[in-house]
Amino acid sequence: MSAPPNLIGMLPSELEDLAVELGASRYRGRQLATWIYRKSVYALDAMSDLPKDFRSALSDNRTVTLPDVARVTPSLDGSRKLVFRLEDDSRVSAVIMPDDDRITLCLSTQVGCGYACAFCLTGTMGLERNLTAGEIVGQLLAANALLAGEGQRVTHLVFMGMGEPLANFAALVKAVRIFTDAKLGLGYSPRRITVSTVGLVSGIEKLGREDLKVNLAVSLHASSDDVRSQLMPVNKSWNLSALMEAVRKYPLTHRQRVFFEYVMLDGVNDDVEDARRLARLLRGVKAKVNLIPFNDWEGSTFQRPPLPRILAFQSVLLDADITTTVRWSKGEDIGAACGQLREPVPA
Ligand code: SAH
Repeated sequence: MSAPPNLIGMLPSELEDLAVELGASRYRGRQLATWIYRKSVYALDAMSDLPKDFRSALSDNRTVTLPDVARVTPSLDGSRKLVFRLEDDSRVSAVIMPDDDRITLCLSTQVGCGYACAFCLTGTMGLERNLTAGEIVGQLLAANALLAGEGQRVTHLVFMGMGEPLANFAALVKAVRIFTDAKLGLGYSPRRITVSTVGLVSGIEKLGREDLKVNLAVSLHASSDDVRSQLMPVNKSWNLSALMEAVRKYPLTHRQRVFFEYVMLDGVNDDVEDARRLARLLRGVKAKVNLIPFNDWEGSTFQRPPLPRILAFQSVLLDADITTTVRWSKGEDIGAACGQLREPVPA
């Protein structure tokens, strides 16, 4: 028998509908949302201002369940990888990354990933399934529960864990709405949320239409179709010009920019000529580039370029007035860095 549906992952408006369905008022649904999303209380018994009969109707038909934290692995750099065991026994991870005054949580949206980027370990798993909105929201609630013991809370969210967020669109949007609902949800500003995509043009367009105001990050990784298609099979469906056209149309507030991720691969995409082409590609785009030195994994055929090459690449972009940072991934020592998420970890 499968478990009853989880209240975690339901929109506040859906909780109101549910209250009515169970014979209570919409107000009771709002209280329920407040307990779960604002007060971080997950035991129906502890929701003291809800009538007893409503609570028992709820517990007959529903659960309030956080994903089970199977393992927490601390890194030397202060980040921590949380491995979740889901109800069907599959595993995904989220990474808590503290940095100065922020604590960023990197969230997964799928078990595995179907896009098979050549340099990405998660890509070797293939797609197993989409996460539900409850499983996505649950990663944040579980991370916050862990941090609460230390008097802290996640401040920023990036959808850069396992999976392709825009390929799990409905659950992604639902989770974001729960995260950003200021009254009955978690109250995160959309400015503090970043959705990263492999470059699904139709998904970028749809995300723009949802008007969530979240930041968009695009995994670019090459400045020519030739190289990009070799690294990222998705480029054969949507090439650079289609991708850049969608990016240019993504609605931005005046201070917002689109982030471009560019994994630096030795001798593949790291020449100054690549950088010059990248600068041309980004001309007229409100862009910020994050160069990510390749994180190695057992069996990969790529290498990280030597530092001077990375810095030379960066200078070309800086000279073209493109804000460019080198992002040293967190959690490399614990298999939590960009593109290293895979569960179970290969032997
Ligand atoms: N599927 C989405 C979300 C994943 S974000 C996307 O592609 O954007 C994870 C980021 O890490 C992506 O930019 C991905 O291309 C990058 N990445 C994957 N493998 C990597 C590796 N081995 N080293 C460095 N970055 C990597």
